[in-house]
Amino acid sequence: MSTKDRLRRVIPAVDKLLNHCLIRSLIETGVARETVLRLIRSTLEQLRRLSDDELTRLDLSLDHLAQLVVTHLEAQSLQRVINGTGIILHTGLGRAPLSLNAIETIEELSGYCSLEINIQSGRRGSRDLHVAELLVALTGAEAGLVVNNNAAALLLILNTFAQNREVIVSRGQLVEIGGSFRLPDVMRASGAKLIEVGTTNRTYCRDYEEAIGPETAILLKVHTSNFKQIGFVAEVPLLEMVTLAAAHELLVIDDIGSGALFDLTKYDLGSEPTAQASIATGADLVTFSADKLVGGPQGGIIVGKRDLIAQLKENPLMRALRIDKLRLAALQATLRSYLSGKLTELPVWKMALRPLSEIKRAAETLAAAIEIRLKNEANVTMQDGASQLGGGSLPGEEIPTLLVAIEFFHLDVEKVAEQLRMGDPAIFTRISNGKLLIDLRTLHPEDHGIIIERFGNLSNR
Ligand SMILES: *Cc1c(COP(=O)(O)O)cnc(C)c1O
Repeated sequence: MSTKDRLRRVIPAVDKLLNHCLIRSLIETGVARETVLRLIRSTLEQLRRLSDDELTRLDLSLDHLAQLVVTHLEAQSLQRVINGTGIILHTGLGRAPLSLNAIETIEELSGYCSLEINIQSGRRGSRDLHVAELLVALTGAEAGLVVNNNAAALLLILNTFAQNREVIVSRGQLVEIGGSFRLPDVMRASGAKLIEVGTTNRTYCRDYEEAIGPETAILLKVHTSNFKQIGFVAEVPLLEMVTLAAAHELLVIDDIGSGALFDLTKYDLGSEPTAQASIATGADLVTFSADKLVGGPQGGIIVGKRDLIAQLKENPLMRALRIDKLRLAALQATLRSYLSGKLTELPVWKMALRPLSEIKRAAETLAAAIEIRLKNEANVTMQDGASQLGGGSLPGEEIPTLLVAIEFFHLDVEKVAEQLRMGDPAIFTRISNGKLLIDLRTLHPEDHGIIIERFGNLSNR
C-alpha cells in the first residue's frame, strides 16, 4: 500500500464523526442533521484533497476533526468581523458600520413603537413620515421615501412611471454595480423599455433628443459609481437633461448611487454628486443607497417632487419593497447626525476623516505589540498605504494611511491570513508583495487587543 493510501485510510468515516459528542451537541442545539452531515462530508473531502505532506502534519484525531467541523459551521454563520482591509464601505463586510446613536435607537424601538400610528390622533399614520421629513430638511426636496435598497428604488420608479414605456439612458451609464446588479436587468424587470443612446465614452444632449418619441417617459441619469472614464469622454450635465425633459414633458430621474449628503471636496476626498445639488438642479426624483456614503442601514432613498412620491406610494410593489422598523430607526438616527452637524458620529466619516497622525500613533503601538508576539518569526514594519471609501464610491480616489506590514520568515502568509480569518472573531487583512497588511483606518480601538492576541496564538510555527 502506498503512503498516500495509508494516510487516507486514517481519515475516519462520516458515521464516526457524526457520533462524536461535539457533533451530537451541535445537533442537540438545533443545527439540522442534514447541515451537519453536509459539513462533515465537505470537511473530509477537503482532507482527502490535501497533499501527503500536509496530511502527515495534520492532527487526524476524531476530537480535532470534530472541532474542524464546528469551525466550518461557525464560518458559515453571520458573525462579527474585524476589518483590517482599509476599505471603509466593504460590501462583503456589510458596508456602513452603524453609529452608536443608530444602534441605541434600534434597541429603543425594537419592541413596540409608533411605526404606523400617529401618537397625537391615535389613528393610522405612515411609517416613514419622520424619516421623510429629515430627508426633506437635508436635501431641499419636496418629499422623500425609503425602500429596501437603491435597486428597489429604481425598480419602483421605473415600474410606476415607465411600465411599457421607454426610458432613455446613455450607453456610458449602463453599469454593473457588483453582485448581480446590472442596470439593464433591473430596468427589464420593472417593465420599462430601455433605449440606449450615445456611445460608451461620449453621449451628447442631441442623442437624448433624437431618441425621444411618443412612448418616452423618463430620461435616466446613472452615476457610474465604481468605475471612472478618463480621456475622450463626454456626459450630458444634469441641467441640460432637465431642460430637455421639461420641453418634452418627461421626467428626469437621477440615480446618484452612493448618496453623498455634503460636498466631499471640502475634506479633500474627491468629488461625488450630492443629493442636494441634484435636487437644486431640477431632477424630478433622486435615488441613492442609505448604506453607502450616507453611512446608515441598508436602504434605498428617494427624494423629489411631492406628487411623484405620492404616486410611488400608491404602487402595490411598495408593500414588497418597504423597510422595517429597525432599519427606519437606524436611518432616523443616522440622518439626525447630519442635521446636528455631527458628521463624525457616523463611523464612515469618522474613519474617512481620521487624521493621519492619529493613525500613525495607533499603527506604531500595534506594530510594536505584534513584533513582540512574532519575535524571530517576522519582520514587522510600518508602511505608507492607501485606504478606500469603497462601496463603489470615488473609484481611483485613495485616502493616505499607514499600514502595519508583516513579512514572515517561514510561515506562508496566505495561511496566516486564513488563520486570522477562521478565528473568532474573523480578522480580514490584505496581502501585497508577500506581506500581510493591516490598515489601521478601519480598526476600532478595541480590535487591537484581539489582533495582538491572535498573533500570539498562530499555529503551525
Ligand atoms: C450601489 C448602486 C446601486 C445599487 O444600490 P443598492 O442600495 O446596493 O441596491 C444602484 N445604482 C448606483 C449608481 C449605485 O452606485
